[in-house]
Amino acid sequence: MRTAVGLTPLEMTLLAFEFTMEFVMPTFSKIVRFAFLGLASTALVAAVPSVASARPNVVVVFCDDLGYGDLGCYGHPTIRTPNLDRMAAEGTRFTQFYSANPVCTPSRYSLLTGKLSIRGGMTSKKNRVLRENSKGGLPADELTIAELLKQSGYRTMCVGKWHLGVQPEHLPMRHGFDHWFGLPYSNDMPKQLMRINTDGSTVSLGSNPMFRDDEVIEHDPDQRLLTERYTDEALKFITAAADAREPFFLYLPHSMPHTPIHASRRFAGKSPRGLYGDVIEALDWSTGEILDTLRKRGLAENTLVVFTSDNGPWLIRHENGGSAGLLREGKGSTWEGGQRVPGIFWMPGTVKAGAVTTELGSTLDLLPTIAGLVGARLPDTAAADGYDLGPLLREGGKSPRKEMFFYRDDELFAVRLGAYKAHFKTQPAYFEPKATAHEPPLLYNLDVDPSEKYDVGKDHADVVAKIAALAENHRASVVPVKNQLEELIPIPAGETK
Ligand code: MG
Repeated sequence: MRTAVGLTPLEMTLLAFEFTMEFVMPTFSKIVRFAFLGLASTALVAAVPSVASARPNVVVVFCDDLGYGDLGCYGHPTIRTPNLDRMAAEGTRFTQFYSANPVCTPSRYSLLTGKLSIRGGMTSKKNRVLRENSKGGLPADELTIAELLKQSGYRTMCVGKWHLGVQPEHLPMRHGFDHWFGLPYSNDMPKQLMRINTDGSTVSLGSNPMFRDDEVIEHDPDQRLLTERYTDEALKFITAAADAREPFFLYLPHSMPHTPIHASRRFAGKSPRGLYGDVIEALDWSTGEILDTLRKRGLAENTLVVFTSDNGPWLIRHENGGSAGLLREGKGSTWEGGQRVPGIFWMPGTVKAGAVTTELGSTLDLLPTIAGLVGARLPDTAAADGYDLGPLLREGGKSPRKEMFFYRDDELFAVRLGAYKAHFKTQPAYFEPKATAHEPPLLYNLDVDPSEKYDVGKDHADVVAKIAALAENHRASVVPVKNQLEELIPIPAGETK
């Protein structure tokens, strides 16, 4: 409240006191004066709500099938992403950031656990992703980012597409999330979700169910509204945590731009890139809403926000699929376009602003990076394939990540070490049932040749030998475990759709 002379009551009181001190009681002790001012400033600070909690909050925005070349700040000529461009300008943008796998389920497992999918049995040739009738899913003994942060007293929520199993023990609520709002699998799987009862019988939960926590609240939701509904839930969660002054973890795996793509009336028909551009511009708006809410609540400097994608663009969807920019191939493939994705980190005052790094990073690194940020101790068995990117994000410089392993299902197809990537096997993402083995492996210098066009193996036998030895060591570190993707529950005739 301000008075007629434009001062608040507290400022009026201070002014009156100053007058008394300067002109009425000039001999009054300076010590008493400072004590009064100290008390007054304490009262002033107490009057302004302090919303910053001591422990940093974490938000992970995880798009589905967004390509390396789909954002303005990654060079797309007609898709407008002002909010993500600003996020990148205020934070650190990676030009060599990798999802852990070229398809949905294994990539999501790796982001949440910091482990390659082969270590959790979360990859298979038979089913490349979990189905609506899969028996398996995210194993109970895995440590997820949500579990780590929940153990540290965080509020946690998953908003969006899960795709790590449909049986109750595999859903978000059993893996560290207090709440979940979203879909259990991809938006092109509008089929009967099949559950196993405790007596071994099976039951259908209906087609394309939308969940709130463990309950199905509707079926076949209007996909034009998914991005906005997810955003609304995300903002409510952030606001409630801010009101309660509790640290929070929000995992926001969007359903878009996985096909079939849809945009609401607010975005449809707006982008020169067509419907795909409308969908990306909605995701840009959504991220902007989250960043603005954090700014308004005074949480910007205490919240790490990460924006990335689960795999490259789905090129077989043509105009409805995204772009890998200058990278070769897309989703489903171990060429660069399958796994190199946008990677933007933002935390003003902590993450270096305006930085573009050509160092390596991966979604595998999120768990150790977040653990380092919040000061949580990781068990020795956790995040076997991740690195703490904290020093790089704060100060720039070199990444602890020097290598990247590229799996197609349960087979190691390629390995990157420094600038070089060796392909032991290659296979187009789709429509080619067999892989081609390469002996010696194909070798590309990705710093020089990011499009993987020119095999330089014959000039670098030493590099090939070094990468082959690294691959051998890695293979030896993989312990066989039960496969989670192969067992399916029969769907009764007439219930498939
Ligand atoms: Mg995907």
